[in-house]
Amino acid sequence: MKVFLWSMIQKALPLGEQLQQRGIRADAFCYKCKGVESAMHIFFECPFAKEVWSLVPITQVVHLATCINLKDTIVAFRQVICLPPTGVSNNILPWICWAIWTARNMAIFENRTLSPEEVASKGIRLAREWSYAQPQKQTTGKKVPNPQRRIHDPAESSRVMTCKT
Ligand SMILES: [Zn+2]
Repeated sequence: MKVFLWSMIQKALPLGEQLQQRGIRADAFCYKCKGVESAMHIFFECPFAKEVWSLVPITQVVHLATCINLKDTIVAFRQVICLPPTGVSNNILPWICWAIWTARNMAIFENRTLSPEEVASKGIRLAREWSYAQPQKQTTGKKVPNPQRRIHDPAESSRVMTCKT
Protein backbone atom coordinates (compact mmCIF):
# COMPACT_ATOMS: atom_id res chain seq x y z
CA MET A 1 0.00 0.00 0.00
CA LYS A 2 2.87 2.38 0.80
CA VAL A 3 4.37 1.64 -2.62
CA PHE A 4 1.00 2.30 -4.25
CA LEU A 5 0.63 5.69 -2.50
CA TRP A 6 4.22 6.59 -3.28
CA SER A 7 3.60 5.69 -6.95
CA MET A 8 0.49 7.90 -6.97
CA ILE A 9 2.38 10.94 -5.68
CA GLN A 10 5.50 10.33 -7.76
CA LYS A 11 3.42 9.90 -10.94
CA ALA A 12 4.81 6.39 -11.29
CA LEU A 13 1.50 4.64 -11.94
CA PRO A 14 1.08 3.52 -15.56
CA LEU A 15 -1.74 5.96 -16.31
CA GLY A 16 -2.65 7.35 -19.71
CA GLU A 17 -1.01 10.72 -19.14
CA GLN A 18 2.33 9.21 -18.06
CA LEU A 19 2.28 6.54 -20.78
CA GLN A 20 1.63 9.18 -23.45
CA GLN A 21 4.45 11.39 -22.15
CA ARG A 22 6.81 8.40 -22.40
CA GLY A 23 5.59 7.59 -25.92
CA ILE A 24 4.12 4.22 -24.88
CA ARG A 25 0.51 5.13 -25.63
CA ALA A 26 -0.86 7.38 -28.34
CA ASP A 27 -3.78 8.68 -26.29
CA ALA A 28 -4.22 9.56 -22.64
CA PHE A 29 -7.94 9.05 -22.36
CA CYS A 30 -9.73 7.90 -19.24
CA TYR A 31 -11.51 4.56 -19.88
CA LYS A 32 -14.67 5.94 -18.27
CA CYS A 33 -15.16 9.49 -19.48
CA LYS A 34 -12.45 10.12 -22.11
CA GLY A 35 -10.92 12.87 -19.99
CA VAL A 36 -7.12 13.02 -19.62
CA GLU A 37 -6.18 10.08 -17.41
CA SER A 38 -3.98 11.58 -14.69
CA ALA A 39 -3.82 10.35 -11.09
CA MET A 40 -5.85 13.36 -9.92
CA HIS A 41 -8.45 12.61 -12.58
CA ILE A 42 -8.88 8.88 -12.07
CA PHE A 43 -8.95 9.01 -8.24
CA PHE A 44 -10.88 12.25 -7.63
CA GLU A 45 -12.06 14.23 -10.64
CA CYS A 46 -13.55 11.56 -12.90
CA PRO A 47 -17.37 11.37 -12.60
CA PHE A 48 -16.97 7.68 -11.72
CA ALA A 49 -14.53 8.47 -8.88
CA LYS A 50 -16.83 11.23 -7.60
CA GLU A 51 -19.69 8.75 -7.51
CA VAL A 52 -17.56 6.27 -5.57
CA TRP A 53 -16.53 8.96 -3.04
CA SER A 54 -20.16 10.07 -2.66
CA LEU A 55 -20.97 6.55 -1.44
CA VAL A 56 -18.28 6.55 1.26
CA PRO A 57 -19.64 7.89 4.58
CA ILE A 58 -16.99 10.45 5.49
CA THR A 59 -17.25 13.44 7.80
CA GLN A 60 -16.45 16.02 5.17
CA VAL A 61 -15.92 16.17 1.47
CA VAL A 62 -12.49 17.39 0.56
CA HIS A 63 -12.97 20.36 -1.68
CA LEU A 64 -10.89 19.63 -4.70
CA ALA A 65 -10.93 23.27 -5.80
CA THR A 66 -8.61 24.04 -2.89
CA CYS A 67 -6.38 21.07 -3.68
CA ILE A 68 -4.34 21.84 -6.73
CA ASN A 69 -2.39 18.62 -6.70
CA LEU A 70 -2.53 15.04 -5.50
CA LYS A 71 -0.19 15.58 -2.56
CA ASP A 72 -2.39 18.39 -1.16
CA THR A 73 -5.46 16.19 -1.59
CA ILE A 74 -3.84 13.31 0.29
CA VAL A 75 -2.76 15.67 3.11
CA ALA A 76 -6.29 17.18 3.28
CA PHE A 77 -7.74 13.68 3.60
CA ARG A 78 -5.87 13.10 6.88
CA GLN A 79 -8.59 15.18 8.57
CA VAL A 80 -11.38 13.04 7.13
CA ILE A 81 -13.02 10.46 9.37
CA CYS A 82 -14.99 7.52 8.10
CA LEU A 83 -18.28 7.35 10.00
CA PRO A 84 -19.84 4.33 11.72
CA PRO A 85 -21.07 1.72 11.08
CA THR A 86 -18.21 1.18 8.64
CA GLY A 87 -15.84 0.16 11.48
CA VAL A 88 -13.02 2.02 9.74
CA SER A 89 -10.80 3.91 12.19
CA ASN A 90 -7.87 4.50 9.89
CA ASN A 91 -7.50 6.76 6.87
CA ILE A 92 -9.90 5.58 4.20
CA LEU A 93 -8.20 7.31 1.26
CA PRO A 94 -5.60 4.67 0.31
CA TRP A 95 -8.21 1.91 0.31
CA ILE A 96 -10.74 3.72 -1.85
CA CYS A 97 -7.98 4.75 -4.28
CA TRP A 98 -6.76 1.13 -4.35
CA ALA A 99 -10.30 -0.08 -5.10
CA ILE A 100 -10.66 2.51 -7.90
CA TRP A 101 -7.25 1.51 -9.29
CA THR A 102 -7.98 -2.23 -9.31
CA ALA A 103 -11.43 -1.59 -10.84
CA ARG A 104 -9.79 0.46 -13.59
CA ASN A 105 -7.26 -2.32 -14.31
CA MET A 106 -9.98 -4.96 -14.24
CA ALA A 107 -11.99 -2.99 -16.82
CA ILE A 108 -9.00 -2.40 -19.11
CA PHE A 109 -7.28 -5.78 -18.91
CA GLU A 110 -10.14 -8.18 -18.13
CA ASN A 111 -13.06 -6.30 -19.65
CA ARG A 112 -14.96 -6.55 -16.36
CA THR A 113 -16.68 -3.48 -15.00
CA LEU A 114 -17.61 -2.79 -11.41
CA SER A 115 -20.31 -0.39 -10.27
CA PRO A 116 -19.46 2.59 -8.03
CA GLU A 117 -21.28 0.77 -5.20
CA GLU A 118 -19.06 -2.31 -5.62
CA VAL A 119 -15.89 -0.19 -5.68
CA ALA A 120 -16.91 1.84 -2.61
CA SER A 121 -17.86 -1.24 -0.59
CA LYS A 122 -14.64 -3.02 -1.61
CA GLY A 123 -12.57 -0.04 -0.41
CA ILE A 124 -14.45 0.13 2.91
CA ARG A 125 -14.13 -3.64 3.41
CA LEU A 126 -10.36 -3.56 2.81
CA ALA A 127 -9.95 -0.60 5.18
CA ARG A 128 -11.98 -2.39 7.87
CA GLU A 129 -9.98 -5.61 7.47
CA TRP A 130 -6.75 -3.63 7.81
CA SER A 131 -8.11 -1.77 10.83
CA TYR A 132 -9.10 -4.98 12.63
CA ALA A 133 -5.79 -6.65 11.80
CA GLN A 134 -3.77 -3.93 13.55
CA PRO A 135 -2.56 -4.61 17.11
CA GLN A 136 -4.64 -2.83 19.76
CA LYS A 137 -2.94 0.21 21.21
CA GLN A 138 -3.88 3.31 23.14
CA THR A 139 -3.70 6.46 21.08
CA THR A 140 -4.52 10.02 21.90
CA GLY A 141 -5.58 10.89 18.37
CA LYS A 142 -9.11 11.35 17.13
CA LYS A 143 -10.56 7.93 16.44
CA VAL A 144 -13.88 6.49 15.52
CA PRO A 145 -15.13 4.29 18.38
CA ASN A 146 -14.64 0.66 17.55
CA PRO A 147 -17.15 -1.51 19.41
CA GLN A 148 -14.97 -4.62 19.07
CA ARG A 149 -12.06 -2.96 20.88
CA ARG A 150 -13.85 -1.20 23.70
CA ILE A 151 -14.61 -4.03 26.08
CA HIS A 152 -11.51 -5.48 27.77
CA ASP A 153 -12.67 -6.25 31.29
CA PRO A 154 -14.90 -9.38 31.52
CA ALA A 155 -16.75 -7.88 34.52
CA GLU A 156 -17.43 -4.76 32.52
CA SER A 157 -18.53 -6.71 29.49
CA SER A 158 -21.24 -8.44 31.53
CA ARG A 159 -22.76 -5.03 32.36
CA VAL A 160 -22.65 -3.78 28.80
CA MET A 161 -25.57 -4.42 26.52
CA THR A 162 -24.70 -4.89 22.88
CA CYS A 163 -27.25 -3.90 20.28
CA LYS A 164 -26.53 -5.26 16.83
CA THR A 165 -28.41 -3.71 13.96
ZN1 LIG B 1 -12.71 9.81 -16.25
